[in-house]
Amino acid sequence: MSLRESFSRHIYWPLGQKLKGEYAARAFKELSESQWKSQDEILSKQWQMVRRIVNKAAQEVPYYRQAYRCIGWDFNDKEFSYEDFVNIPKIEKEDVRDHLLEFLNPNYRGRITEGSTSGSTGQSLTVFYNTEHESYSEAARWRAKDWWGVKLGSPHVALWGRHYTGYKDRLSQQIKSYFMNFLLFSAFDIRQHSLKKIWKKICHFKPHIIYGYPSAIFALAEYIKNNNLTSPKLGIKVIMITAESSSTDQRRLIEEVFGCKTANEYGCSETGGFVYECPEGNWHISSELTFIEFLDQKGKPVSPGERGEIFLTHLRNLYMPLIRYRVGDIGGPLAGKCDCGRNLPLMEVSVAKESDIIHLANGESYMSGDLLYINKSVMKAYPSSILRFRVTQKSIDSFEIEVVPGAGQVEKAEHLFEQLMKKQLGKKIQIHFKRVTSVERELSGKLRYFISEVKKNHPS
Ligand SMILES: [Zn+2]
Repeated sequence: MSLRESFSRHIYWPLGQKLKGEYAARAFKELSESQWKSQDEILSKQWQMVRRIVNKAAQEVPYYRQAYRCIGWDFNDKEFSYEDFVNIPKIEKEDVRDHLLEFLNPNYRGRITEGSTSGSTGQSLTVFYNTEHESYSEAARWRAKDWWGVKLGSPHVALWGRHYTGYKDRLSQQIKSYFMNFLLFSAFDIRQHSLKKIWKKICHFKPHIIYGYPSAIFALAEYIKNNNLTSPKLGIKVIMITAESSSTDQRRLIEEVFGCKTANEYGCSETGGFVYECPEGNWHISSELTFIEFLDQKGKPVSPGERGEIFLTHLRNLYMPLIRYRVGDIGGPLAGKCDCGRNLPLMEVSVAKESDIIHLANGESYMSGDLLYINKSVMKAYPSSILRFRVTQKSIDSFEIEVVPGAGQVEKAEHLFEQLMKKQLGKKIQIHFKRVTSVERELSGKLRYFISEVKKNHPS
């Protein structure tokens, strides 16, 4: 173990936890033990946690108190069953956006951190996390890395959508990354001329893990392969991909180039990751943090092997509980036991479709996930200006952006959106805005933020 690794693991990280009042080390120990318990024990503990958060929300959080009172739900009955639970209302992003303050528990005392979602349905949200949420989320990710032999403090590389707001921001991130034994690259910097520099730094750093967007890691892998730069002695244990769907071809190339397996992290930006892929290739639900329902169009749970819409109840955030929250993705439960021996339940999530990829005239392609980070930057600069958006690629170089305008500076927000899209996809693209009163859901219930009318190799 290097001195920097040891410093990060034993001094810097525990100190940071102490200062934030978090306890991820204790949570990690608990989660490391609970994953081996029997599935009955795991599910029974999970149900206790569902009762805890629902009862607490019904008693103390204004939105739920009102909503549950309307259906005559008796919350003195703390021992409710699943049959009772499915009668309580589901919630949508719009509910949280329109009633944000009512989702907060006024009785909660403790440290709160604020976050915002990337707006994967074209709509960004403000969310708040308490220390329990932060501690358990970090512990679950740490546990998943541990499945691959990646230890806390060991050298990490991250490639993700970090926009720096200025020199000071970049410097403070660099200092933090140094002590965390972390090398962070912004996925927005993925351009041919930066890839060479990024790859050189990675080879020197010798990470145990690369974490980030598959589209960014794939771009790096393609560059390495096309330029014959493969380095067999890097010793990377896993490439953890997150936030976007990836195709089998992308994963295959990433694994070939980096000489290790890829593992998925699945979650949503409202809560962070809560499903992780183990070395046997199965996706395990972190049941200690989440309760997931897979529901058909009538709202009934689907059977193992079938697919339904994903609804999430997060079990750890007592300050801003999300109960039966529509994530907007399609997935399904899987029966059986994983060969890795862990008894955390299994699930699958629908993979990316060809229509999620932006193909350009110069042959380059981008995952539509890039649009989310553009939207996030626009929301940050002009809050409440764009309530919802959907980009449709009409032809190889033209895009239509439907915008549901809000009360803010809509024109400026649209201008920034256009600038950032051109920065990402090239100046030659044509962008046309169309203001609309709503963006309709797909038949699946999912709200899509990108639709391509262009077929690969057959541009219109
Ligand atoms: Zn497994």
